[in-house]
Amino acid sequence: MAQLELGTEVCYVKGVGLAWARKLAELGIETVEDLLLHFPFRFDLRRQAQPIASLAGAGTSATVAGEVTALKENRFGRKPFFQIELEDETGSVPVKWFGGGYLRDKIKMGTQLAISGKPSVYREQVQFVNPQFQIIYDPEGTNLDRDELMPVYPAGKQLTSRMISSVIKRVLGEAERLIPRWFDAEYLERRGMMSRPAAVAAMHKPEEKDHWAQARRRIAYDECLVMQLGIALMRMRQISRPAHALANSELIDQRIRARFPFKLTDAQDRAIADITADIARDRPMNRLLQGDVGSGKTVVALYAALLAIARGKQAAIMAPTEILATQHYNKIRDYLAGSRVRIALLVGRQKPAERKEILDSLADGQIDIVVGTHALISEGVKFSDLALVVVDEQHRFGVTQRTTIRGKGFAPHYLVMTATPIPRTLALTVFGDLDVSVIDALPPGRGKTETLCVPHKAMGDVLDRVREELDAGRQAYFIYPLVNPSPELELTAAEDAYHDLADGPLKDYEISLIHGQMKPADKNSAMDRFRTGEVQALIASVVVEVGMDVPAASVMVITHAERFGLAQLHQLRGRVGRGSDDAVCILVASPKTPEAKRRLKVLVDTNDGFKVAEEDLRIRGPGEIFGTRQHGLPELKVADLIEDFELLRLARRDAFAIVADDPGLNAPHHQQLRREVIKAYAGKLNLLAGA
Ligand code: ADP
Ligand code: MG
Repeated sequence: MAQLELGTEVCYVKGVGLAWARKLAELGIETVEDLLLHFPFRFDLRRQAQPIASLAGAGTSATVAGEVTALKENRFGRKPFFQIELEDETGSVPVKWFGGGYLRDKIKMGTQLAISGKPSVYREQVQFVNPQFQIIYDPEGTNLDRDELMPVYPAGKQLTSRMISSVIKRVLGEAERLIPRWFDAEYLERRGMMSRPAAVAAMHKPEEKDHWAQARRRIAYDECLVMQLGIALMRMRQISRPAHALANSELIDQRIRARFPFKLTDAQDRAIADITADIARDRPMNRLLQGDVGSGKTVVALYAALLAIARGKQAAIMAPTEILATQHYNKIRDYLAGSRVRIALLVGRQKPAERKEILDSLADGQIDIVVGTHALISEGVKFSDLALVVVDEQHRFGVTQRTTIRGKGFAPHYLVMTATPIPRTLALTVFGDLDVSVIDALPPGRGKTETLCVPHKAMGDVLDRVREELDAGRQAYFIYPLVNPSPELELTAAEDAYHDLADGPLKDYEISLIHGQMKPADKNSAMDRFRTGEVQALIASVVVEVGMDVPAASVMVITHAERFGLAQLHQLRGRVGRGSDDAVCILVASPKTPEAKRRLKVLVDTNDGFKVAEEDLRIRGPGEIFGTRQHGLPELKVADLIEDFELLRLARRDAFAIVADDPGLNAPHHQQLRREVIKAYAGKLNLLAGA
């Protein structure tokens, strides 16, 4: 048979037939390389041992593990035997091997054994006779079974971990010959890492736990490195095009600040300093502006836009929904009242004629700032001289989408704003191609927001509280989860609740309903009436999640709070407490599991969005919210973004240094890395010539 290569299909591996090959394919394993890189996710030290005390008597086979506490041998009887007493924390059991004299040199007092077999009962006592055994540890260290660490592989319906293990054993000997090396010895030595072939082999068959930890560190590093190389290449491509250098001046600065009826906070000033330094250069800015809801990001973005306009350029501000685009537009128009800045709103609901007029004015430079949804850019709207793009709440987009959005012939400076606090791991991955500024303090004079968690049966008290607030001239939000999100059944819990409240507890108040299936125009008018105070309580499904700004709203009641994500609840909570009055957010929930209780408690305990986000990430894992895959990044199989944060940082530093040095990964000693990046980002990116 021909020698195995990495690309050899598994059916050519000795002992693997077509039937097995098909089963392996279901796990995504098609080649020898796939086999070698199919790593165990853990090792069992003592094959699924059960407590000795739980041995129920004769019957099904069982595995126990423990230490030898007594030895007895009968060498010369009619039926010679070797017997021990095996003890764990729960009890002890006799184990007897007939004709077991050969064990005398292997099994001693203190030796640790795993025993597998069918227990039997002799004189009312459970015992094992002639079971299988494995030496886990012996005091002299001479008889240790090398198979002590049992790999446990991700397995399939038809293929157990043990079967996979037996196949991998057949190719493992080839790892050293087949697995390509990525780095030279010096590179590895400086980082205290083993070679990749050695790491691959040790991932399957480590000498001991520490050896495995070392191998895992190397493989996790490799995954992070390839991911970061892709990010570094995107970043390199973004800044490789020229951009308008927008220099600030004292006069411009003064004129912009005069537009705001308040003094900017220190935190806002710091963000502005970052941004103005960026856009003064002739390379595009790529910055993420992060700040809790109400921290004043929009004002900072407007500062940047006005600077661009002062330099004779255009700016675009994009929001995720029409409601928010409209709100931004109204706010910006207020700030700019009486100035010469020309501003337009571009949203889907406009009439074709109106739309055409706006598009024409954008193209010939009659408009300075356009506010709209993402359609602004994706539909290839033409600008005469666009120099700045601000994207609000863009956390739903991925790294690779960002590059395509900007790939359309112009290189504007780029500012992403998000009120979702981004844990540091994600700042290095999903947002890894951006620089980060954080607004970490709210403007002065804001009230405090208290968060309470109450059971559903306390709803009567909650409504008393709401009526008090409404009587004092303040406003309230009631938030309901979507009960049935299917478009055919347009029923939301919000709708039911609206009728109940309107006919009952809130019948003396002006209340209004807003939900996802309403026409934008109806939604807008409901929002407007709430904003002006005509409507006192807004009964809503999650559409008010982002960006809504109504300073007089001081109460938020979130029903079935346990159905929302933590980050989402934090976002919602940010809708109140935007004025000078103290506010309250009431989570109405009857959490059933300890975890659900813990999640809600996080919100009650802290108002700090970063803490909430870190906790959310910890509870749900990065996969669900910010999984790397849905953001166009390669999947991480071994590395854990939270546990391996330091390793991720190291890989990032290394990747950015490599790309700075060799932006096309063309150097001979980078060829393997080049192949790995192309493979990992398969088709998602076009980062490398010829890839
Ligand atoms: P964000 O976009 O971060 O949610 P905004 O920029 O919309 O925050 O600001 C929230 C509210 O705070 C707005 O009403 C805004 O006018 C006000 N605001 C922003 N900056 C300041 C400041 N420095 N001092 C006082 N009020 C401010
Ligand atoms: Mg905002």
